[in-house]
Amino acid sequence: MIEMKDVHKTYPNGVMALDGVNLSIKPGEFVYIVGPSGAGKSTLTGLMYREEKHTEGQITINGTDLNTLKERHVPYLRRNIGVVYQDFKLLPKLTVYENVAFALEVIEEDPNNVKQRVMEVLDLVKLKNKARQIPDELSGGEQQRVSIARAIVNNPTLMIADEPTGNLDPETSWDIMSIFEEINANGTTVIMATHSKEIVNTIKKRVIAVENGRIVRDESRGEYGYEI
Ligand code: ADP
Ligand code: ADP
Repeated sequence: MIEMKDVHKTYPNGVMALDGVNLSIKPGEFVYIVGPSGAGKSTLTGLMYREEKHTEGQITINGTDLNTLKERHVPYLRRNIGVVYQDFKLLPKLTVYENVAFALEVIEEDPNNVKQRVMEVLDLVKLKNKARQIPDELSGGEQQRVSIARAIVNNPTLMIADEPTGNLDPETSWDIMSIFEEINANGTTVIMATHSKEIVNTIKKRVIAVENGRIVRDESRGEYGYEI
């Protein structure tokens, strides 16, 4: 599903954010990415959906070689990847329904399928009754559930979440985690960068720790391993 060989990322300002990353993630895995701020976690997840380009090494995502991927084919890569952000990134003027439907409209899904599929994912995140609201009318946890619905509405094989519980209280965070576990149980590979020691040490999964742009630990049922 994801293969990285000796991957480097140097930003145009000269900062080397990744310094020789090797990893292999199989379909269906659930992986936490942990490490101090500035370690390279966001850069690592960003390379997976081509938010950023690596500067050296080899990356293959779902069989697509990112070294030879043409700019115009990036949307095809992203079609199979759902992304969830710490700050939700919902469109403020659109309703919950429209935020989720929009993700299907941009990939030109058959309009006859849109309504059923949107209501299906809103049901999964338990927000069917809020379909007509706009994001401002929802709690943080509800907004994150909308963003998860948007991420999975086109049945991606891979879901990438960058600190998805970073802006949420603990109780709400556990709700989000049960949704992630359900998505993963349905076969989607989940990669989640997180600073939550409680979550990582409670819901045991593979843990990849990044420090100074390198993988320093990779354990199949790991611990968070940092004090904060
Ligand atoms: P983390 O997600 O672990 O906090 P990041 O991947 O965001 O780490 O950052 C890794 C390093 O790259 C940091 O030194 C950060 O300042 C730098 N960095 C991140 N994004 C950019 C950017 N767009 N331009 C320049 N430097 C960046
Ligand atoms: P109901 O008939 O009980 O409203 P629906 O399944 O038709 O149930 O719709 C559920 C919610 O989805 C509605 O509250 C509505 O806001 C929203 N919805 C359905 N279709 C659309 C659409 N095409 N555009 C925007 N919102 C929609």
